[in-house]
Amino acid sequence: MTSPIVTRFAPSPTGFLHIGGARTALFNWLYAKKLGGKMLLRIEDTDRERSTEAAIAAILDGLKWLELDWDGEVIYQFSRAARHREVAESLLADGKAYHCYATPEELTAMREKARAEGRTRLYDGMWRDRDPATAPAGMKPTIRLKAPQTGETVIEDQVQGRVVWQNENLDDLVLLRGDGTPTYMLAVVVDDHDMGVTHVIRGDDHLINAARQKQIYDALGWDIPSMSHIPLIHGPDGSKLSKRHGALGVDAYRAMGYLPAALRNYLVRLGWSHGDQEIFSTQEMIDAFDLSGIGRSAARFDFAKLENLNGHYIRHADDQSLVTQFEQILDYVPEGAELKPKLNERTRAQLLQAMPSLKERAKTLLELIAGSYFIFADRPLEIDAKAAALLTPEARELIGRLKQALEKVSPWSTETTETAMRNFAEENNLKLGAVAQPLRAAVTGRTTSPGIFEVLAVLGRDECLARLGDQAAPP
Ligand code: GLU
Repeated sequence: MTSPIVTRFAPSPTGFLHIGGARTALFNWLYAKKLGGKMLLRIEDTDRERSTEAAIAAILDGLKWLELDWDGEVIYQFSRAARHREVAESLLADGKAYHCYATPEELTAMREKARAEGRTRLYDGMWRDRDPATAPAGMKPTIRLKAPQTGETVIEDQVQGRVVWQNENLDDLVLLRGDGTPTYMLAVVVDDHDMGVTHVIRGDDHLINAARQKQIYDALGWDIPSMSHIPLIHGPDGSKLSKRHGALGVDAYRAMGYLPAALRNYLVRLGWSHGDQEIFSTQEMIDAFDLSGIGRSAARFDFAKLENLNGHYIRHADDQSLVTQFEQILDYVPEGAELKPKLNERTRAQLLQAMPSLKERAKTLLELIAGSYFIFADRPLEIDAKAAALLTPEARELIGRLKQALEKVSPWSTETTETAMRNFAEENNLKLGAVAQPLRAAVTGRTTSPGIFEVLAVLGRDECLARLGDQAAPP
């Protein structure tokens, strides 16, 4: 029997969960789900100065919003420092690592010399074979890996293929600092090993780290997990992803009104493909996902594509679920302050009733909010400029008469209001549009809205007549 698949997502809590991290999490999640394995979550908080509680909260919150659940408890890397130290000391005891007493000044000089000579190996090995008896008194040494000086370090990467480094170019890594804290490189190896990680899937900015980590695995006599380094996400022009081009936290995508399912679908296609299929339900994604479908070139972030995909998900979403998501997003957008107090049984029902039309017109939840203005607006309505242009003195006079005609309508429904308006148009020798447009302007304050009779039905008789009264010319 083959051992179960264990992947992990290992963010450093130095900032929000950015879009690249979310994609990495998604790929790890999909791979684990597909093979009936587990995805673990490790917060890499060893950098005490740059790690913050707020960033941890943002990462957990972002993953939850994206519905990427992890297995078991969250593992905090810093809490494992004693274990990391123990492993460094075991390497020391085995002669696979050594104490280095180089002073900061010596290290700087070495670095400058190496740079001047164009060498990538910065440490010159001064303490590698030196007798610790000659160590300067009172100085706390670091522990360095006694890395191989000849030969090659090879990673058989599932995405990048075979990647080879000449050992002469790689440094003797610091494993444990003078103050006894582990370096990131050691911590990752020990944690991945102890957590039973079988597959590491992460951004290709970590490829060089894979070589260094391989040397640590080798020294420990541990097997290295399968490695997949995914090309980073670039901007639409191929350059590094900038804020303007999408390098934002997942929370920003939520606040822009994207649905988690749409963002997952967008992210899965960012660097991974399955024929030319673009739309994937979660189950389809899980079934189709494989490492061999990950491309080798950088994916380009395209807001327009994300927006179109989101529009697709909104149009196909269940109306009640959109009402729920509409409510949830109010906590994250400025409009929320005004709209939340207005949510009640009546407005929720109105929203649900209008949803089939509202969702046809919205690519984001923000557009859904904008489209629902007519439901939540207080009288007298704020009339936007385009609608105001329609409300000429003649139109206001017309609205006054139309109001009188609509007052007689009973019961009040899309059908009865439509009949009344058609009759009114005919009696006045007007085209339907010549009546409908000012009517829409008066009851919604806008020139676009769901079908006007639906709007009338959703708002109900009293509110419609009152809004018409607000805009009608005095008789
Ligand atoms: N903590 C690293 C990061 O946030 C990831 C390390 C890894 O996946 O091995 O970039």
